[in-house]
Amino acid sequence: MPKKNNPAPVTIIGGGLAGTEATFQLVRRGIPVRLYEMRPRVGTGAHQTDLLAELVCSNSLGSNLPDRASGLLKEELRAFGSYILDTAYKYRVPAGNALAVDRDAFAREITRYVKGHSLVEFINEEADSIPEEGLVIVATGPLTSPAMLQFLAKKFGHKHLSFFDAIAPIVEADSIDLNHAFRADRYHPEAKGDHINCPLTKEEYETFVAELLKARKIELPAFEKEARKQFFCACQPIEQIAATGVEALRFGPFKPVGLIDPRTKRRPYAVLQLRQDNLLSSLYNLVGCQTNLVHGEQERVFRLIPALRQAKFVRLGQMHRNAYLYSPKILTTTLQVKDRPNWFIAGQLTGVEGYTESTGTGLLAGFNAARLTLGKTLVDPPPATMLGALVRYITFPGHKQFTPMNANFGLFGDLSGEPGDDRRAAIIAEARRAFRQFFAEL
Ligand SMILES: Cc1cc2nc3c(=O)[nH]c(=O)nc-3n(C[C@H](O)[C@H](O)[C@H](O)COP(=O)(O)OP(=O)(O)OC[C@H]3O[C@@H](n4cnc5c(N)ncnc54)[C@H](O)[C@@H]3O)c2cc1C
Repeated sequence: MPKKNNPAPVTIIGGGLAGTEATFQLVRRGIPVRLYEMRPRVGTGAHQTDLLAELVCSNSLGSNLPDRASGLLKEELRAFGSYILDTAYKYRVPAGNALAVDRDAFAREITRYVKGHSLVEFINEEADSIPEEGLVIVATGPLTSPAMLQFLAKKFGHKHLSFFDAIAPIVEADSIDLNHAFRADRYHPEAKGDHINCPLTKEEYETFVAELLKARKIELPAFEKEARKQFFCACQPIEQIAATGVEALRFGPFKPVGLIDPRTKRRPYAVLQLRQDNLLSSLYNLVGCQTNLVHGEQERVFRLIPALRQAKFVRLGQMHRNAYLYSPKILTTTLQVKDRPNWFIAGQLTGVEGYTESTGTGLLAGFNAARLTLGKTLVDPPPATMLGALVRYITFPGHKQFTPMNANFGLFGDLSGEPGDDRRAAIIAEARRAFRQFFAEL
């Protein structure tokens, strides 16, 4: 066991949300970190900068409401001392009830902190294996490099699962025609609102859907077509949703409910919402418009929306591989590898899904690696908490099919048969009680 006053460094592979959160948890406890990050030398196909903790798609970390699953998880992680969430609140941009950030300012601050920390040795290299010696946290994310994936596949002897995701385009704010749009948040018609809403008439909507379906898509290589069957439903490309019926988008990302166009005083037939993407409010992303159309086609089709006729696209949508491990066989609830307790896995690679969830497992892995270094007992948050429920989900051995999961109230057992809102309130109350007790015992 390393000495408490001169601890050996913990190796962290991957400087994303989970890896940087884990780094923080270690260095704040005086434990040195050797952090491997491969970008920009080796790219991932989705990351665009050389910054740590880059948000690859939406700039939203999900709901900020205390009675929502993601809001509850945030509450727990902040109480636990999450650096990523504290930084997210520091660089928050208006987004209704969601926590959205200026992605550039957010990632810059984290990069500056981590790379500048005296206890961090930053190694700008791709790791193609996990060191046998010392404590290691693997947080290489959904776009883990092929060399590392190969190593993991060989080491664990499991067939890796993977599914596909898609990211949404971003446009310049100045290029949005506000004569054809209005500001409002859903269900709050009285307030000015943070979102820019782009209404469509029935005719405009039907033309949009027809052109969307006709538009050319990027062809996936044959070996990826098989994995495509495992599309993660929460992040389906809009052309895929539209293919299920002409009305499908009006019940999905183009739903008009809760929105009144102040010029007509009526609910539009369909609405595309745009959400602020940076602090300067110079960029907006097309909410829910993940797509796999070829780039020229994306611009052509989205410009059929009246407010976007002159839109300047700064980023276009794309589809990407999204890898995760079969954690129920591999991990303990402390996020250690079952037969290699000096290895921890964190982030999306564990089978959690989402920025906040990845941050949460990074926090837990970093916290436990610190405790292991300091000779303390490792912890797993109680199943009644949101973080604990997520960890139970990814380590539960009885899954028929293990697919990635974000924070949600379905992770909890039936609480005293309470219906609807009462059940949710009971879960939240119990989660808060359990978390307070867990934390007090620490
Ligand atoms: C394209 C895409 C869009 C997504 N959109 C959203 C979204 O809108 N909202 C949401 O909540 N979640 C989204 N996710 C899911 C997920 O929440 C994010 O990917 C999140 O960033 C995962 O955190 P992480 O720390 O596990 O991985 P990442 O943040 O991806 O960090 C992993 C890091 O490891 C590095 N790396 C990989 N392999 C190696 C190696 N061998 N050696 C060294 N470094 C390596 C990578 O360069 C990267 O910096 C998306 C995922 C993808 C891929």
